[in-house]
Amino acid sequence: MAHVVVLGGGFAGVAAAEALARRLGEEHQITLISHQNEFIFYPALVKLAFGQCEVSDLSYNLRDAMLERRIKFIQAEVAYPDPDNNRVVLAHGEVEGSVQYDYLLVALGRRLATEEVRGFFDHAHHLLTVNAALQFRTALENFQGGHAVFGYCPDTRLVVPVFEAAFALDRHLKERGLREKSKITIVCPAELGDQLGGAEIVPSLQKSLDDHQVEFVPNFPINQVTEKAIFTSTGQTMDYDLLLLLPPFTGPGAAMYTGLTDANGYVRVDRHLRAAGAYHTYAAGDCVNFLGPKMGHMAVLQGMVAAANIAAELEGKEPVARYNHELMLVIDEGGKDSIYLQKELWAHDEGKVKQGRFWSWAKNVHQKYWQRIHS
Ligand SMILES: Cc1cc2nc3c(=O)[nH]c(=O)nc-3n(C[C@H](O)[C@H](O)[C@H](O)COP(=O)(O)OP(=O)(O)OC[C@H]3O[C@@H](n4cnc5c(N)ncnc54)[C@H](O)[C@@H]3O)c2cc1C
Repeated sequence: MAHVVVLGGGFAGVAAAEALARRLGEEHQITLISHQNEFIFYPALVKLAFGQCEVSDLSYNLRDAMLERRIKFIQAEVAYPDPDNNRVVLAHGEVEGSVQYDYLLVALGRRLATEEVRGFFDHAHHLLTVNAALQFRTALENFQGGHAVFGYCPDTRLVVPVFEAAFALDRHLKERGLREKSKITIVCPAELGDQLGGAEIVPSLQKSLDDHQVEFVPNFPINQVTEKAIFTSTGQTMDYDLLLLLPPFTGPGAAMYTGLTDANGYVRVDRHLRAAGAYHTYAAGDCVNFLGPKMGHMAVLQGMVAAANIAAELEGKEPVARYNHELMLVIDEGGKDSIYLQKELWAHDEGKVKQGRFWSWAKNVHQKYWQRIHS
């Protein structure tokens, strides 16, 4: 009998634990450790912020869902994995001390490095947690028109919600009769298309920006936020009345100082999702060191590849499942101009871009599917 421990109850951890439960015999134990009792469907946080859904529509009880699949769930804060001693040290939670394992999958997501932008914590809204999205919802209700500045910082590895939020704000302000009194600007540290697979998406995205009268300001690398303005490392400044920024990302705090990570704190893995330099250790999801954007569908695929390889090892086979780094995203514009992009990031092929109402519908259905199969 082997004990497989999965750290993190997000897309990667849940997909991996479920795949392991389907494949491994009952003699093996699977344990999932996460500090939250809930699974959060993060892509729906934009809708939460704009009052188009509630917390119960984008979350489900992780413990119940795992137990149904014979996965033991422990709610606890991971202090650090200790691969040299095949154990995970827990800081606090239902279990104190440490948990031994035979195989480990690290799926702890990313850390929001708000400290890298001076004033971010005190003045900027973001959308990357349930609480932050709800706080932004309140700020939106109090907004009576003016300059709304949305954007992302250097090293933010996710940009879809910035565009979705800007398009949603345009509609929201029109409904409240405030659009004429408002200007919406998106600021970005590089060019349009960066963090979105490159140039292919630019014509469709520019059209949506024009249709929604959203100004796009490239090459604006924010390094400071004050109560009324944002500043860049290149000496530019911009005033705002409502500010929504995505902070820089780094690897998860719990993986720091374990010898598993690169200079940015991401876990170094090969294409089989094996962590470099550690025995029987895998990693998947936002916490790994692959280049480019960090997306939910990548986390799911990586979790499944890691699970397939752990299962193969337990069956005495070679871990041959390989991950292919592909970008697949939908920018839900809220209507007929929603954009779909698919692009292989390790090949030099052109990406495929499609536009239409179907993609908005498909994204919503995907959220409902995740929730329904776990409720
Ligand atoms: C607003 C928003 C919109 C997005 N839109 C899209 C989109 O349109 N399409 C798309 O593909 N992706 C989107 N994403 C990205 C997607 O949600 C992430 O890529 C995905 O959640 C990564 O999954 P993960 O399992 O690697 O990490 P996470 O989902 O972050 O899960 C990490 C887990 O680890 C747990 N954890 C972390 N540290 C500890 C610790 N020390 N101890 C115990 N537990 C810990 C957390 O509680 C969590 O359960 C969006 C994200 C956000 C926030």
